[in-house]
Amino acid sequence: VDRVYDIAIIGGGINGCGIARDAAGRGHSVFLCEQGDLASGTSSAATKLIHGGLRYLEYNEFRLVREALQEREVLWRIAPHLIRPLRFVLPLERGMRPPWLLRLGLFLYDHLGGRRLLPPTKTLDLARDAAGAPLRRDRHRRAFEFSDCFVDDARLVVLNAQDAAARGATVRPRAKLTAARRDGAVWRLTAGGDTVVARCLVNAAGPWVGMVLGLLGRAAAPVRLVQGSHLVFRRLFAHDRAYLFQNPDGRVLFAIPYEDDFTLIGTTDTDYAGDPGAAKPSEAEIDYLCAAASAHFATPVTPDDVVWSYCGVRPLYDDGAGAAQAATRDYVLALDADGPPLLSVFGGKITTYRRLAEHVLEKLAPFLPASSPWTGGAPLPGGDFPVTGVAALEAELARDHPHAARRLARAYGTRARQILCGDRGRDFGAGLSEAEVRYLMRKEWAMTPEDVIWRRTKLGLRLSPEQVRDLAAFMRGNA
Ligand SMILES: Cc1cc2nc3c(=O)[nH]c(=O)nc-3n(C[C@H](O)[C@H](O)[C@H](O)COP(=O)(O)OP(=O)(O)OC[C@H]3O[C@@H](n4cnc5c(N)ncnc54)[C@H](O)[C@@H]3O)c2cc1C
Repeated sequence: VDRVYDIAIIGGGINGCGIARDAAGRGHSVFLCEQGDLASGTSSAATKLIHGGLRYLEYNEFRLVREALQEREVLWRIAPHLIRPLRFVLPLERGMRPPWLLRLGLFLYDHLGGRRLLPPTKTLDLARDAAGAPLRRDRHRRAFEFSDCFVDDARLVVLNAQDAAARGATVRPRAKLTAARRDGAVWRLTAGGDTVVARCLVNAAGPWVGMVLGLLGRAAAPVRLVQGSHLVFRRLFAHDRAYLFQNPDGRVLFAIPYEDDFTLIGTTDTDYAGDPGAAKPSEAEIDYLCAAASAHFATPVTPDDVVWSYCGVRPLYDDGAGAAQAATRDYVLALDADGPPLLSVFGGKITTYRRLAEHVLEKLAPFLPASSPWTGGAPLPGGDFPVTGVAALEAELARDHPHAARRLARAYGTRARQILCGDRGRDFGAGLSEAEVRYLMRKEWAMTPEDVIWRRTKLGLRLSPEQVRDLAAFMRGNA
């Protein structure tokens, strides 16, 4: 007899994995399939901010901004290794939004979301503050400085999957859903060649949400695909704050300290059609981002300075807005209960994934045994230490392992001890040990060098092609 799961989830991005964790922790039986690697879709291609979204206030998205602001400190507490507070410098500029308007926005930002730990907004004199040093003197004199948080997006996905699995969920990366149909009171799916039976089906396929609906024979989806690209440069400034610049086209530009030695610049909003997996930063986007950054930094940047770039496709709910940047960033959950339930997720930011999962389970409540929310107070794997304790953890690890302690503390939290406890074997470069790769293969579903160097870590920024070849050979030998 086939096992009947309570919930089958399509998509191993932040939303699918967040729903899987929440549902499994409530005692529901959960199956999740992901066609590629976990987080191989949009959830590894974000700006990586856990933020309220100051810009969304301009579009009156108060519900979303409030929920997102509240989530900053909730997520920081449950993942103090992956999430760090970040101060943003927002320079004031003639001809852009007036200072009173920004001040008002930041006042709301400071007060809408129950901020307790993050420091409030303040004003900076850029002639005196170190944040002014890398900027063009002729453009910037004063700035506001405010709080948000930064996250390793791909690792947040994997930790949700890992915790879901620890609570009993079946997580199947590299298993594509190829067929699904209602059969009496259940869904019958084919995923990765296997048949799976479930009472409820959740379509959390991100930008593929419409394709999955097509596969199920349902009507076209109200989804608007909007591509966004990011560029990575060698570090453009020495301090540890980020910038939020205003562009003449009304958009904003982020410049964020990244992986210690780099700066992340983004992003763009370009309507996209086609296979979301094939999106690439276009030449026009690269030129736009370089020109936008060069308008603010004293030392201009060119496409030749780009060391890495990536592109993601936002699966926004199509609210009929004109410009891509004006399309709503809020999420919509569509329940089709014409037989065993099908719930489709449209939109949904990294920041709001945990609340989105709670809302999904509220919607599915009539079809499942009674349960209550629990994820707001339970640390993700490795996050079982105080919210401001990452430096102390790093210092503890550094006593025996000075070389990689900083990176390991911030990636694995207390689980770094599992990687560092025995013989660590060979170092492939940049502190990536055999023990770490084994851990990633056994505990985090890493199967290819790409999974290891671009999603579980960002060591692709540092390893040479020969080192990656060594890693590939090791992974083949230990598969
Ligand atoms: C440029 C950009 C910047 C952003 N910046 C931020 C930010 O700073 N902060 C923030 O909070 N949010 C940000 N976002 C939004 C956020 O990244 C996304 O909304 C979020 O990652 C969507 O997650 P998801 O799980 O819905 O989709 P995805 O991560 O795309 O996951 C869906 C998964 O479904 C899988 N799938 C599809 N079809 C099938 C199938 N048939 N069978 C099995 N699996 C399938 C895909 O492979 C994919 O992995 C940004 C987005 C972009 C594009």
